[in-house]
Amino acid sequence: MFKFEDVTLVELPNKVLREKSKEVSLPLSKEDDNLIQKMIFHVDNSQEENTKFRPAVGVAAIQYGIPKKIFYILIKDNENNVIFKDALINPKMIGHSEHKMAISEGEGCLSVNENYPDQEGYVPRYARVVMEAYSYYEKKIKKYDVSGYTAIVFQHEYDHLQGKLFIDHINKESPWKEPKNTTLL
Ligand SMILES: [Zn+2]
Repeated sequence: MFKFEDVTLVELPNKVLREKSKEVSLPLSKEDDNLIQKMIFHVDNSQEENTKFRPAVGVAAIQYGIPKKIFYILIKDNENNVIFKDALINPKMIGHSEHKMAISEGEGCLSVNENYPDQEGYVPRYARVVMEAYSYYEKKIKKYDVSGYTAIVFQHEYDHLQGKLFIDHINKESPWKEPKNTTLL
């Protein structure tokens, strides 16, 4: 259905990545449904062995230059079992833990080229978040209560909808100084 060439990513310093995304009207239009199908193709394919894509666990619509409140996440474990798979439409964060977590090797982003400066460092995130969104697969508004790595990915993608990027959370002076009240994953 889709091909590698159909996916065009926007990278820094493109300013569109700093825009706030807009609410999506429901039920989904054909256009928005097609956009989500493309996001699913892109991320799913990026986890296949012979992919041409940079590996990803999630993508937000703004990363194609489309400022709509949509992100898609696919997380699998080491045995290839699906841990999480859904596209969230109009997500809202309705709760979070006090405690934080950070991935020990830092984060990466399809919109931040691997050669982009100052992207190394801890990215503190809430250890658990609750979001409410319209589920692409269940076709209804539902609550997502997630923790650990999944919660980190949720927050990374949610940030995109606010025009934020993971590099904004890195301590500029000492990027690898362990942040307070934060467990390293
Ligand atoms: Zn990203």
